[in-house]
Amino acid sequence: MDARFPEFRLGKVLATSFTATLTERCGDPVERIPVPQRLIDWLAVNDLVVESCTAAQLDLARELRESLHAALTAAALREPLPASAVHVINDRSVHGRAAAVLTPENTRHWRLRPASGVVDALGVIAADAIGILAGERDGRLALCASPTCRAAFFDTSRSRTRRWCEMNTCGNREKKARFHANQRKNPGAVP
Ligand SMILES: [Zn+2]
Repeated sequence: MDARFPEFRLGKVLATSFTATLTERCGDPVERIPVPQRLIDWLAVNDLVVESCTAAQLDLARELRESLHAALTAAALREPLPASAVHVINDRSVHGRAAAVLTPENTRHWRLRPASGVVDALGVIAADAIGILAGERDGRLALCASPTCRAAFFDTSRSRTRRWCEMNTCGNREKKARFHANQRKNPGAVP
């Protein structure tokens, strides 16, 4: 992990983990893949190992990310998906040539082309999002309750009542804010 760059917010769902490489979209945005090497690092963490990434490929990745954000947000609000976002998602999906390979340990490994690894990886991410947007997966799309975040997340909890994209960050911050507000209203009260 390179200390010069913001660390990653990793979730269990590939598509929304990817949109979380830009956080606090409604506050002070934090770009977590500011340089091509950080996209390489993020992909490696997600078993999408690529050898190289150009500045142009990073742009393609960020364009996909923002298109996913727009489409997932619209879906969470039960609004029509923006046509431009659908176009970009489909374009990245069509151009990917990743192959799913079963390992002897019964895990899935993505085999990517050496020179076009990023293109293939973006195809995998786009296909993951298509599965969610098409309603093929068990879960509920929702928007984070944090007013500075509002990230779209995929709630797979049994009760489907998750309120935050991530409990450790947005959830805790909201709880602390509520606690301090109560303290001000009720000084001296035992929490
Ligand atoms: Zn959030």
